Amino acid sequence: MDFSAFGLSAPLLKAIAAQGYVTPYPIQEQAIPAILNEHDILGIAQTGSGKTASFALPLIEQFRERKPTRNRYVKTLVLVPTRELALQVATVFQSFSLYLGNRVKTLAVFGGVSINPQMKSMSGTDILVATPGRLLDLIENKAVHLSEVEVLVLDEADKMLNLGFAEEMDRIFALLPPKRQNLLFSATLADDIKAIKAKLLRNPVVISISSDTDETQVELIKQVAYRVTPEQKGPFLRYLIKQQNMEQVLVFVSSVRNADNLVVKLNKNGLEAMALHGEKSQGARTEALRRFKAGLVRILVATDLASRGIDIQFLPFVINYDLPRSPKDYVHRIGRTGRAGASGEAISLITPEDEHHFKIIQKKMKRLVETHETADVNLQGF
Ligand code: AMP
Repeated sequence: MDFSAFGLSAPLLKAIAAQGYVTPYPIQEQAIPAILNEHDILGIAQTGSGKTASFALPLIEQFRERKPTRNRYVKTLVLVPTRELALQVATVFQSFSLYLGNRVKTLAVFGGVSINPQMKSMSGTDILVATPGRLLDLIENKAVHLSEVEVLVLDEADKMLNLGFAEEMDRIFALLPPKRQNLLFSATLADDIKAIKAKLLRNPVVISISSDTDETQVELIKQVAYRVTPEQKGPFLRYLIKQQNMEQVLVFVSSVRNADNLVVKLNKNGLEAMALHGEKSQGARTEALRRFKAGLVRILVATDLASRGIDIQFLPFVINYDLPRSPKDYVHRIGRTGRAGASGEAISLITPEDEHHFKIIQKKMKRLVETHETADVNLQGF
Protein backbone atom coordinates (compact mmCIF):
# COMPACT_ATOMS: atom_id res chain seq x y z
CA MET A 1 0.00 0.00 0.00
CA ASP A 2 1.18 3.56 -0.58
CA PHE A 3 0.03 6.98 0.58
CA SER A 4 -2.03 7.70 -2.55
CA ALA A 5 -4.53 5.03 -1.42
CA PHE A 6 -5.83 7.41 1.29
CA GLY A 7 -7.15 9.92 -1.24
CA LEU A 8 -4.93 12.70 0.12
CA SER A 9 -4.57 15.74 -2.12
CA ALA A 10 -1.63 16.27 -4.47
CA PRO A 11 0.27 18.89 -2.39
CA LEU A 12 0.21 16.54 0.59
CA LEU A 13 1.41 13.58 -1.46
CA LYS A 14 4.21 15.75 -2.78
CA ALA A 15 5.24 16.72 0.77
CA ILE A 16 5.09 13.07 1.90
CA ALA A 17 7.40 12.11 -0.96
CA ALA A 18 9.73 15.00 -0.08
CA GLN A 19 9.99 13.55 3.45
CA GLY A 20 11.09 10.26 1.92
CA TYR A 21 8.10 8.31 3.21
CA VAL A 22 7.18 5.51 0.80
CA THR A 23 5.03 3.09 2.75
CA PRO A 24 2.63 4.07 5.52
CA TYR A 25 3.44 2.68 8.95
CA PRO A 26 0.77 0.45 10.56
CA ILE A 27 -0.60 3.26 12.72
CA GLN A 28 -0.91 5.47 9.63
CA GLU A 29 -2.74 2.73 7.70
CA GLN A 30 -5.35 2.61 10.42
CA ALA A 31 -5.54 6.17 11.69
CA ILE A 32 -5.50 8.19 8.47
CA PRO A 33 -8.76 6.78 6.99
CA ALA A 34 -10.48 6.84 10.40
CA ILE A 35 -9.57 10.49 11.02
CA LEU A 36 -10.58 11.49 7.49
CA ASN A 37 -13.94 9.85 8.22
CA GLU A 38 -14.21 12.07 11.30
CA HIS A 39 -14.04 9.28 13.85
CA ASP A 40 -12.64 9.76 17.31
CA ILE A 41 -9.44 7.82 17.89
CA LEU A 42 -7.77 6.14 20.82
CA GLY A 43 -4.20 5.40 19.77
CA ILE A 44 -2.01 3.36 22.09
CA ALA A 45 1.31 4.26 20.57
CA GLN A 46 4.57 6.01 21.34
CA THR A 47 6.98 8.25 19.57
CA GLY A 48 8.74 6.10 17.01
CA SER A 49 5.58 4.46 15.71
CA GLY A 50 4.92 7.22 13.17
CA LYS A 51 1.95 8.55 15.10
CA THR A 52 2.62 12.24 14.41
CA ALA A 53 2.13 11.84 10.67
CA SER A 54 -0.85 9.57 11.35
CA PHE A 55 -2.77 12.54 12.69
CA ALA A 56 -0.99 15.45 10.98
CA LEU A 57 -1.74 14.29 7.45
CA PRO A 58 -5.52 13.85 7.77
CA LEU A 59 -5.85 16.95 9.95
CA ILE A 60 -4.15 19.09 7.29
CA GLU A 61 -6.29 17.48 4.61
CA GLN A 62 -9.43 18.50 6.52
CA PHE A 63 -8.63 22.15 5.78
CA ARG A 64 -9.34 21.58 2.08
CA GLU A 65 -13.08 21.66 2.76
CA ARG A 66 -13.14 24.13 5.63
CA LYS A 67 -14.11 27.77 5.59
CA PRO A 68 -11.13 30.02 6.42
CA THR A 69 -10.25 30.17 10.11
CA ARG A 70 -11.38 33.33 11.93
CA ASN A 71 -8.43 35.22 13.29
CA ARG A 72 -7.33 33.79 16.68
CA TYR A 73 -10.11 31.15 16.64
CA VAL A 74 -7.97 28.08 15.96
CA LYS A 75 -9.69 25.07 14.41
CA THR A 76 -7.30 22.32 15.42
CA LEU A 77 -5.74 22.11 18.86
CA VAL A 78 -2.93 19.69 19.66
CA LEU A 79 -1.94 19.43 23.33
CA VAL A 80 1.49 18.01 24.15
CA PRO A 81 3.41 17.56 27.42
CA THR A 82 6.74 19.24 26.65
CA ARG A 83 8.20 22.20 24.81
CA GLU A 84 10.41 19.98 22.69
CA LEU A 85 7.48 17.87 21.60
CA ALA A 86 5.49 21.00 20.74
CA LEU A 87 8.24 22.14 18.38
CA GLN A 88 8.70 18.69 16.94
CA VAL A 89 5.00 18.12 16.26
CA ALA A 90 4.54 21.60 14.78
CA THR A 91 7.50 20.99 12.48
CA VAL A 92 5.83 17.83 11.19
CA PHE A 93 2.64 19.79 10.44
CA GLN A 94 4.65 22.52 8.74
CA SER A 95 6.66 20.16 6.60
CA PHE A 96 3.48 18.47 5.34
CA SER A 97 1.90 21.87 4.60
CA LEU A 98 4.88 22.97 2.53
CA TYR A 99 3.12 22.86 -0.84
CA LEU A 100 -0.15 24.36 0.36
CA GLY A 101 1.05 27.94 0.13
CA ASN A 102 -0.44 29.98 2.96
CA ARG A 103 -3.50 27.81 3.30
CA VAL A 104 -2.67 26.12 6.59
CA LYS A 105 -0.66 27.76 9.34
CA THR A 106 0.64 25.79 12.33
CA LEU A 107 2.11 27.44 15.42
CA ALA A 108 3.82 25.91 18.46
CA VAL A 109 3.41 27.64 21.84
CA PHE A 110 5.00 26.60 25.15
CA GLY A 111 6.17 28.04 28.42
CA GLY A 112 9.67 29.01 29.48
CA VAL A 113 9.96 31.71 26.83
CA SER A 114 8.45 35.15 26.56
CA ILE A 115 4.73 35.15 25.74
CA ASN A 116 4.65 38.32 23.60
CA PRO A 117 6.10 36.92 20.37
CA GLN A 118 3.67 33.97 20.66
CA MET A 119 0.74 36.38 21.05
CA LYS A 120 1.79 38.21 17.91
CA SER A 121 2.43 35.04 15.90
CA MET A 122 -1.01 33.68 16.77
CA SER A 123 -2.60 35.77 14.07
CA GLY A 124 -3.88 33.57 11.23
CA THR A 125 -3.07 30.29 13.01
CA ASP A 126 -5.21 27.32 11.95
CA ILE A 127 -3.49 24.56 13.89
CA LEU A 128 -2.13 25.26 17.36
CA VAL A 129 0.30 22.89 19.08
CA ALA A 130 0.52 23.83 22.76
CA THR A 131 1.59 22.82 26.21
CA PRO A 132 -1.37 23.24 28.60
CA GLY A 133 -0.04 25.96 30.91
CA ARG A 134 1.03 28.36 28.19
CA LEU A 135 -2.20 27.79 26.29
CA LEU A 136 -4.20 28.92 29.33
CA ASP A 137 -2.00 32.02 29.64
CA LEU A 138 -2.65 32.87 26.01
CA ILE A 139 -6.38 32.36 26.46
CA GLU A 140 -6.35 34.65 29.47
CA ASN A 141 -4.61 37.28 27.37
CA LYS A 142 -7.27 36.85 24.67
CA ALA A 143 -4.56 35.91 22.20
CA VAL A 144 -6.50 32.79 21.25
CA HIS A 145 -10.04 31.44 21.60
CA LEU A 146 -11.09 27.81 21.67
CA SER A 147 -14.81 28.19 20.92
CA GLU A 148 -14.41 27.18 17.27
CA VAL A 149 -12.09 24.23 17.74
CA GLU A 150 -13.22 21.33 15.55
CA VAL A 151 -10.53 18.81 16.43
CA LEU A 152 -8.72 18.19 19.71
CA VAL A 153 -5.59 16.03 19.80
CA LEU A 154 -4.03 14.89 23.07
CA ASP A 155 -0.56 13.64 22.22
CA GLU A 156 1.34 11.60 24.82
CA ALA A 157 -1.59 12.08 27.19
CA ASP A 158 -0.04 9.73 29.74
CA LYS A 159 2.99 12.00 30.05
CA MET A 160 0.77 15.05 30.32
CA LEU A 161 -0.88 13.43 33.34
CA ASN A 162 2.47 12.32 34.80
CA LEU A 163 3.75 15.87 34.57
CA GLY A 164 0.77 17.10 36.56
CA PHE A 165 -1.27 18.75 33.82
CA ALA A 166 -4.60 17.12 34.79
CA GLU A 167 -6.16 20.26 36.22
CA GLU A 168 -5.03 22.47 33.33
CA MET A 169 -6.32 19.92 30.84
CA ASP A 170 -9.73 19.98 32.51
CA ARG A 171 -9.83 23.75 32.33
CA ILE A 172 -9.03 23.58 28.63
CA PHE A 173 -11.65 20.88 27.93
CA ALA A 174 -14.28 23.12 29.54
CA LEU A 175 -13.54 25.86 26.99
CA LEU A 176 -14.01 23.66 23.94
CA PRO A 177 -17.28 23.42 22.02
CA PRO A 178 -19.07 20.13 22.77
CA LYS A 179 -19.28 18.99 19.16
CA ARG A 180 -15.81 18.14 17.91
CA GLN A 181 -13.53 15.31 16.87
CA ASN A 182 -11.18 13.97 19.56
CA LEU A 183 -7.94 12.08 19.07
CA LEU A 184 -6.23 10.64 22.13
CA PHE A 185 -2.73 9.18 21.97
CA SER A 186 -1.03 7.53 24.91
CA ALA A 187 1.72 4.97 25.45
CA THR A 188 -0.35 3.19 28.06
CA LEU A 189 -3.97 2.64 28.89
CA ALA A 190 -3.63 3.35 32.61
CA ASP A 191 -6.73 4.11 34.68
CA ASP A 192 -6.39 7.88 34.40
CA ILE A 193 -6.22 7.57 30.60
CA LYS A 194 -9.32 5.36 30.67
CA ALA A 195 -11.05 8.15 32.57
CA ILE A 196 -10.13 10.71 29.90
CA LYS A 197 -11.23 8.27 27.23
CA ALA A 198 -14.64 7.91 28.85
CA LYS A 199 -14.96 11.67 29.24
CA LEU A 200 -13.82 12.76 25.79
CA LEU A 201 -14.18 10.07 23.18
CA ARG A 202 -17.36 9.03 21.36
CA ASN A 203 -17.20 5.51 19.89
CA PRO A 204 -13.51 5.78 19.20
CA VAL A 205 -11.63 3.66 16.72
CA VAL A 206 -9.06 1.96 18.95
CA ILE A 207 -5.61 1.49 17.47
CA SER A 208 -2.94 -0.28 19.45
CA ILE A 209 0.51 -0.21 17.97
CA SER A 210 3.68 -1.85 19.12
CA SER A 211 6.29 0.81 19.65
CA ASP A 212 9.83 1.30 20.77
CA THR A 213 8.99 -0.26 24.08
CA ASP A 214 8.00 -3.28 22.12
CA GLU A 215 10.07 -6.43 21.84
CA THR A 216 10.42 -6.31 18.07
CA GLN A 217 11.87 -2.81 18.21
CA VAL A 218 14.17 -3.75 21.09
CA GLU A 219 15.39 -6.65 18.93
CA LEU A 220 16.94 -4.16 16.50
CA ILE A 221 19.03 -2.63 19.25
CA LYS A 222 22.31 -4.20 20.20
CA GLN A 223 22.65 -4.01 23.96
CA VAL A 224 25.86 -4.35 25.94
CA ALA A 225 26.90 -3.50 29.45
CA TYR A 226 30.25 -2.92 31.12
CA ARG A 227 31.07 -3.48 34.78
CA VAL A 228 32.94 -0.46 36.13
CA THR A 229 33.76 1.06 39.49
CA PRO A 230 32.21 4.48 40.19
CA GLU A 231 35.68 6.07 39.76
CA GLN A 232 36.17 4.43 36.38
CA LYS A 233 32.92 5.67 34.94
CA GLY A 234 34.20 8.97 33.54
CA PRO A 235 37.41 7.65 31.99
CA PHE A 236 35.63 4.56 30.67
CA LEU A 237 32.98 6.70 28.95
CA ARG A 238 35.66 8.76 27.22
CA TYR A 239 37.50 5.58 26.29
CA LEU A 240 34.35 4.13 24.70
CA ILE A 241 33.54 7.27 22.74
CA LYS A 242 37.07 7.58 21.41
CA GLN A 243 37.85 3.93 20.90
CA GLN A 244 34.59 3.22 19.06
CA ASN A 245 34.83 6.48 17.15
CA MET A 246 31.30 7.47 18.10
CA GLU A 247 30.29 10.37 15.91
CA GLN A 248 26.97 11.00 17.64
CA VAL A 249 26.04 9.71 21.08
CA LEU A 250 23.26 10.42 23.55
CA VAL A 251 24.38 9.93 27.15
CA PHE A 252 21.81 9.55 29.91
CA VAL A 253 22.44 10.58 33.49
CA SER A 254 20.27 10.56 36.60
CA SER A 255 20.35 14.21 37.63
CA VAL A 256 20.80 17.77 36.42
CA ARG A 257 24.01 18.05 38.44
CA ASN A 258 25.47 14.90 36.89
CA ALA A 259 24.61 16.21 33.43
CA ASP A 260 26.39 19.53 33.97
CA ASN A 261 29.42 17.91 35.64
CA LEU A 262 29.79 15.34 32.89
CA VAL A 263 29.63 17.98 30.16
CA VAL A 264 32.40 19.98 31.85
CA LYS A 265 34.59 16.86 32.13
CA LEU A 266 33.99 15.79 28.53
CA ASN A 267 34.73 19.24 27.20
CA LYS A 268 37.91 19.42 29.29
CA ASN A 269 39.00 16.20 27.64
CA GLY A 270 38.46 17.53 24.15
CA LEU A 271 35.09 15.84 23.56
CA GLU A 272 32.48 18.38 22.56
CA ALA A 273 29.32 17.90 24.61
CA MET A 274 26.18 19.80 25.57
CA ALA A 275 23.61 19.21 28.31
CA LEU A 276 19.86 18.87 27.93
CA HIS A 277 17.86 19.01 31.14
CA GLY A 278 14.89 20.66 32.79
CA GLU A 279 16.86 23.44 34.46
CA LYS A 280 18.26 24.83 31.22
CA SER A 281 16.46 27.77 29.68
CA GLN A 282 14.18 26.93 26.79
CA GLY A 283 16.55 28.67 24.40
CA ALA A 284 19.48 26.57 25.60
CA ARG A 285 17.47 23.33 25.34
CA THR A 286 16.30 24.04 21.82
CA GLU A 287 19.78 25.05 20.74
CA ALA A 288 21.45 21.97 22.27
CA LEU A 289 19.00 19.70 20.53
CA ARG A 290 19.28 21.54 17.23
CA ARG A 291 23.07 21.38 17.29
CA PHE A 292 23.05 17.72 18.21
CA LYS A 293 20.54 16.79 15.52
CA ALA A 294 22.51 18.76 12.95
CA GLY A 295 25.66 16.87 13.90
CA LEU A 296 27.36 20.06 15.15
CA VAL A 297 27.92 18.63 18.61
CA ARG A 298 29.04 15.07 19.13
CA ILE A 299 27.68 14.29 22.59
CA LEU A 300 24.38 15.21 24.19
CA VAL A 301 24.11 14.54 27.92
CA ALA A 302 20.48 14.34 29.00
CA THR A 303 18.23 13.59 31.93
CA ASP A 304 15.09 11.51 31.41
CA LEU A 305 12.69 14.42 31.61
CA ALA A 306 14.35 16.41 28.85
CA SER A 307 14.60 13.39 26.61
CA ARG A 308 10.90 12.56 26.52
CA GLY A 309 9.45 12.20 23.09
CA ILE A 310 12.57 13.38 21.35
CA ASP A 311 12.96 11.92 17.92
CA ILE A 312 16.48 11.79 16.61
CA GLN A 313 16.69 9.85 13.42
CA PHE A 314 19.50 7.36 12.94
CA LEU A 315 21.11 7.92 16.31
CA PRO A 316 23.69 5.13 16.43
CA PHE A 317 24.61 5.15 20.14
CA VAL A 318 22.87 5.59 23.47
CA ILE A 319 24.87 5.26 26.69
CA ASN A 320 23.38 4.84 30.14
CA TYR A 321 26.08 6.57 32.17
CA ASP A 322 23.72 6.29 35.13
CA LEU A 323 21.15 3.53 35.07
CA PRO A 324 17.54 4.74 35.16
CA ARG A 325 15.38 3.88 38.12
CA SER A 326 12.56 2.20 36.24
CA PRO A 327 12.87 -0.60 33.68
CA LYS A 328 10.34 1.30 31.57
CA ASP A 329 12.68 4.27 31.36
CA TYR A 330 15.50 1.92 30.38
CA VAL A 331 13.54 0.66 27.39
CA HIS A 332 12.41 4.17 26.56
CA ARG A 333 15.99 5.44 26.64
CA ILE A 334 17.46 2.68 24.52
CA GLY A 335 14.58 3.19 22.09
CA ARG A 336 16.13 6.57 21.17
CA THR A 337 18.45 4.52 18.99
CA GLY A 338 17.31 1.84 16.55
CA ARG A 339 14.42 4.02 15.39
CA ALA A 340 12.39 3.80 12.22
CA GLY A 341 13.91 0.41 11.43
CA ALA A 342 17.56 1.48 11.77
CA SER A 343 19.90 -0.52 13.98
CA GLY A 344 21.61 0.99 16.99
CA GLU A 345 23.65 0.19 20.05
CA ALA A 346 22.76 0.82 23.68
CA ILE A 347 25.56 0.64 26.23
CA SER A 348 25.12 0.64 30.00
CA LEU A 349 27.76 1.27 32.64
CA ILE A 350 27.10 -0.92 35.65
CA THR A 351 28.69 -0.24 39.03
CA PRO A 352 28.59 -2.90 41.77
CA GLU A 353 25.72 -0.98 43.31
CA ASP A 354 23.71 -1.23 40.06
CA GLU A 355 24.09 -5.01 39.67
CA HIS A 356 20.87 -6.01 41.38
CA HIS A 357 18.81 -3.32 39.70
CA PHE A 358 20.22 -4.17 36.29
CA LYS A 359 19.13 -7.79 36.80
CA ILE A 360 15.59 -6.58 37.43
CA ILE A 361 15.66 -4.47 34.28
CA GLN A 362 16.76 -7.45 32.22
CA LYS A 363 14.12 -9.64 33.76
CA LYS A 364 11.36 -7.12 33.00
CA MET A 365 12.65 -6.73 29.45
CA LYS A 366 12.86 -10.54 29.12
CA ARG A 367 16.28 -10.13 27.64
CA LEU A 368 19.76 -10.87 28.89
CA VAL A 369 22.29 -8.13 28.15
CA GLU A 370 25.82 -9.19 27.27
CA THR A 371 27.93 -7.83 30.15
CA HIS A 372 31.72 -7.35 29.97
CA GLU A 373 34.35 -6.96 32.64
CA THR A 374 36.66 -3.98 32.24
CA ALA A 375 39.48 -4.77 34.66
CA ASP A 376 41.85 -5.38 31.74
CA VAL A 377 41.06 -2.15 29.95
CA ASN A 378 43.86 0.36 30.18
CA LEU A 379 42.27 3.68 31.01
CA GLN A 380 45.53 5.57 31.28
CA GLY A 381 45.24 8.81 29.39
CA PHE A 382 41.45 8.83 29.30
P1 AMP B 1 6.89 9.63 15.36
O1 AMP B 1 6.43 8.38 16.02
O2 AMP B 1 5.77 10.42 14.81
O3 AMP B 1 7.80 10.44 16.24
O4 AMP B 1 7.77 9.20 14.08
C1 AMP B 1 8.96 8.48 14.20
C2 AMP B 1 9.89 8.66 13.01
O5 AMP B 1 9.43 7.90 11.89
C3 AMP B 1 10.00 10.09 12.52
O6 AMP B 1 11.37 10.36 12.28
C4 AMP B 1 9.23 10.11 11.23
O7 AMP B 1 9.74 11.06 10.32
C5 AMP B 1 9.42 8.71 10.71
N1 AMP B 1 8.29 8.23 9.90
C6 AMP B 1 6.97 8.32 10.21
N2 AMP B 1 6.21 7.74 9.26
C7 AMP B 1 7.05 7.25 8.32
C8 AMP B 1 6.87 6.52 7.10
N3 AMP B 1 5.68 6.17 6.67
N4 AMP B 1 7.98 6.19 6.40
C9 AMP B 1 9.22 6.53 6.85
N5 AMP B 1 9.46 7.21 8.00
C10 AMP B 1 8.40 7.57 8.73
